[in-house]
Amino acid sequence: MKFAVCKANKKEVCMINKEKRPMKKTLTRRAFLKSSVVAAAAVSVSQTAQATQLSTNAHIVVIGAGAGGLAVSHLLNKLLSGHSLTIIDKKMEHHYQPGFTLVASGVYKSPNKVISNNKDHMPDNAKWIQDNVVSFNPDKNQLILSKGDTVSYDFLIIAPGCQLNYQDIEGLDISRIGINGIGSVYAGPQGAAATWAAIQTFIKEGGKGVFTRPNTDMKCAGAPMKVTNLTEHHAQLINNRQNIQVDYFAHDNTLFSVPAFDQELKKRWQRRNIMPHYSHVLSGINMDARKATFDTPDGSVTADYDFIHVVPPMSAPDAIRESELAQESYSGWLDVDKYTLQHKTYPNVFGIGDVVGTPIGKTAASAKTQAPIVAYNLTAVIAGKTPYEQWNGYTSCPMILGIGKVLLWEFGYEKVPTPTFPGDPNTERWLWWRMETDLLGPLYTAMINGQLPEFALRG
Ligand SMILES: Cc1cc2nc3c(=O)[nH]c(=O)nc-3n(C[C@H](O)[C@H](O)[C@H](O)COP(=O)(O)OP(=O)(O)OC[C@H]3O[C@@H](n4cnc5c(N)ncnc54)[C@H](O)[C@@H]3O)c2cc1C
Repeated sequence: MKFAVCKANKKEVCMINKEKRPMKKTLTRRAFLKSSVVAAAAVSVSQTAQATQLSTNAHIVVIGAGAGGLAVSHLLNKLLSGHSLTIIDKKMEHHYQPGFTLVASGVYKSPNKVISNNKDHMPDNAKWIQDNVVSFNPDKNQLILSKGDTVSYDFLIIAPGCQLNYQDIEGLDISRIGINGIGSVYAGPQGAAATWAAIQTFIKEGGKGVFTRPNTDMKCAGAPMKVTNLTEHHAQLINNRQNIQVDYFAHDNTLFSVPAFDQELKKRWQRRNIMPHYSHVLSGINMDARKATFDTPDGSVTADYDFIHVVPPMSAPDAIRESELAQESYSGWLDVDKYTLQHKTYPNVFGIGDVVGTPIGKTAASAKTQAPIVAYNLTAVIAGKTPYEQWNGYTSCPMILGIGKVLLWEFGYEKVPTPTFPGDPNTERWLWWRMETDLLGPLYTAMINGQLPEFALRG
């Protein structure tokens, strides 16, 4: 075992045990998930093997205290010592966004179930700046906050999630979600609760339901279909299915990007009389007349509705998409290497979560598996090494078909099913429903509190 000598000068770092990676992998994700489902409990980090830490006095800044930002911050504290950590996020509340779908379907009875305080999830050593980043100067390792302050960093992790661009849908006023048949599960905890109110009115009164999705990359691309499925199933449960029409408007000719799952959902929707309309992108809405306008390859078309579920176009936050850190596109996602998650131009910058411009992976499940990749790769860069960890695109979508009915879909960059558990992922199981309603929330909380061991974060 060799030990390097630590130097006190800034940016000079040492790997205490050069022959080993900072932490050992001891269990596979499959083994962890199995034990989690049985025990339904998160494992305390203190029970895991002692980490070997890299000593450094680097200043690391993390933008965003969401799923990705918090998970990676806690992990870095296990890999590093002597560093300083600053987390920038204006938001005081933390939202468990996967739970929005359960609020918008009446499964979670209160939106408070998905709200917590960010201060309860912050690492003890983090300096929390309650402000938003508005611009970057990556050549000088600096960023500017909305109040005008400048923050300098040695290393930067960008994790501000997605920006919801409701304003790009002409005529839409999001303050009216829940009124006049408008719903949107993406509009925060209160918006999800208002959506559930509008869905209940719709399924009781009957009429035409229109369900949309944008033509941008989006977080949890399965959520628009989950809302469609749950609405249709709720109508069945109150014996009023015959009085509602369910139309889904897809942005291209698929429902889901993984062919095996796409075909399965198309078959199931045919049986349930849920009607897909392909290559239709919502561009405008007349909220009083209840008419939606779609762009199609053949021009603009209009559809009447009694209830509409709106999903906004999404992009990186403006601060990113207007900076030199962005890819060139409408959405301006962060321009990272899709495997190492290191910025392609600025090696001291990494990205995690919804903001990264990877081909897939805007889910909390992806952020969970990106966290160790970013933490190890940043640690390597601090140590003057080349990033060696590669993210495989792991994404999980528990496709809710109705109350008590879930398919557990998992996949990666190859867009083929990569099930953790034996059995056909296109077979619904009650266990996945219980996982969705009772287990994923506590696991998410354990992740943002730094209470999941490293092996449990791997994809
Ligand atoms: C309706 C819905 C259903 C979903 N269902 C699932 C699911 O079933 N499974 C799943 O795995 N995932 C699901 N997701 C997706 C999941 O919630 C996100 O992928 C995940 O939260 C992404 O984490 P993140 O850290 O990138 O962003 P977020 O968790 O959104 O956090 C971003 C943080 O950055 C902050 N921020 C933004 N801009 C700035 C700025 N300029 N400066 C500083 N801070 C900033 C924000 O305030 C926020 O706190 C769902 C999401 C929604 C909305």
